[in-house]
Amino acid sequence: MWHVPKLKEACGVIGICSPKSAADYLYFGLRILQHRGQESAGISVLENGRHFLIKGMGLVHEIINSDKTGHLTGSKGIGHVRYSTHGVSALQNVQPLVVQTRHGEVSVAHNGELVNADSLRTDLQNRGWAFLTSSDSEIIVRLLANELSGHADPVRSIKNLMRIIQGSYSLAIMIGDRIFAVRDPYAIRPLCIGRINDGWGVASESVVFDNLDGEFIRDVEGGEIIELTCDGPKSWKFPSPKDKAHCMFEWVYFARPDSMVDGRLVYDIRRKIGMKLAEEHPTDADIIVPIPDSGRAHALGYSEKSGIPYGEGLMKNRYIERTFIMPVQQERETGVMLKLNPIKSEIEGKSVVLLDDSIVRGTTIKKIVQILRNSGAKEVHVRIGSPPIIAPCYLGIDMKTRQQFVASSKSVEEINKIITSDSLGYISIKGLVECIGLDEKSLCLGCLTGEYPIQIEGEMVRFQKQLESF
Ligand code: SF4
Repeated sequence: MWHVPKLKEACGVIGICSPKSAADYLYFGLRILQHRGQESAGISVLENGRHFLIKGMGLVHEIINSDKTGHLTGSKGIGHVRYSTHGVSALQNVQPLVVQTRHGEVSVAHNGELVNADSLRTDLQNRGWAFLTSSDSEIIVRLLANELSGHADPVRSIKNLMRIIQGSYSLAIMIGDRIFAVRDPYAIRPLCIGRINDGWGVASESVVFDNLDGEFIRDVEGGEIIELTCDGPKSWKFPSPKDKAHCMFEWVYFARPDSMVDGRLVYDIRRKIGMKLAEEHPTDADIIVPIPDSGRAHALGYSEKSGIPYGEGLMKNRYIERTFIMPVQQERETGVMLKLNPIKSEIEGKSVVLLDDSIVRGTTIKKIVQILRNSGAKEVHVRIGSPPIIAPCYLGIDMKTRQQFVASSKSVEEINKIITSDSLGYISIKGLVECIGLDEKSLCLGCLTGEYPIQIEGEMVRFQKQLESF
């Protein structure tokens, strides 16, 4: 699955412990998680006591294939798909990252972003540590290796690591011949456990277990350390705040609609968001049109609640997959034209409600409004499944400066003019929280409010205390 170019997803991780060869599960698991990162991919498989690494820039099937994995028989391994949020896009930053310690090899795959990466790096460099990459994930693997060199106890080492790093992290880790999974105390990015045949796995999203003919068991809890063994998972808890900070964008946009994230099916939440939008911003229109694929469930919900028929007024080309990593903005807009084509008969002479999940710069949605107008739409009313994004994300999504968000400096009415729609309505924060169905204190809403669950220099903290106080 791909999305129309706008927000960049963070990463996806997977870990497998199976009586059979792990490489195929890792390969297919990463393909299922491909929507979480299209820049690079890699696997580290336990092979004859060593960590065998395959990684590179590109899509999963471009890097990992049966020529490279056919000889692998190891039953344990971890994998990663990446879209850089911290550290440049380069081969040296591709994960898993593997280091040697005197107690064996350590492989790490990280989804998330450390908020204290810069200060940790400076501090460690001042103490003589050298780094090969600019990624915050290298800080994790080196700190972990350092802890392990002290006492060789993986769980104690992971707990010590968790005392040092701050931010979002869902980790798949292989230490020697043991597989661990770790979720940060605020449970910001998703991570879940499932069964695959006679083995066990962890993955960023539950859809991995559905598609691999396995069974989703449960989410990894915030602050939980899991060891995957063939007899089942073992669990340890790190002291964690009562209030969590699940990223609301996982439900709005990032995760696949068929995934369960923290007990909620993403598709259901998106449909509810569409229904809430119809309540908060009703419109007299002839047809509800989604921006495929990300706006589909929102549009179905809007249609259901309003009684206005749903129509597929925009078709996408499924085979132009990579345009949203085009570096130049103009190229990105060309990408929209290449990907989306209108079905004129659904649009001509009609008043259209166009549904999408979010607006970042506003340039993409403007282009799509124009596509509909050029196809003869009488009116175009835009409805958006997230509240206005006004502030950066420091916790794993590539939205780094306030200037990039049209809503950080413009009112909804002004944005309506900029994107040339007849009306524009965003779901309210209250409405969104209701649709997700969790207490506001369990969610990160940082990019919507400018108040973050974790202390970030120059930004406001919301209700939560610092981790040290737990
Ligand atoms: S700031 Fe926004 S995108 Fe980032 S974790 Fe929080 S809710 Fe998610």
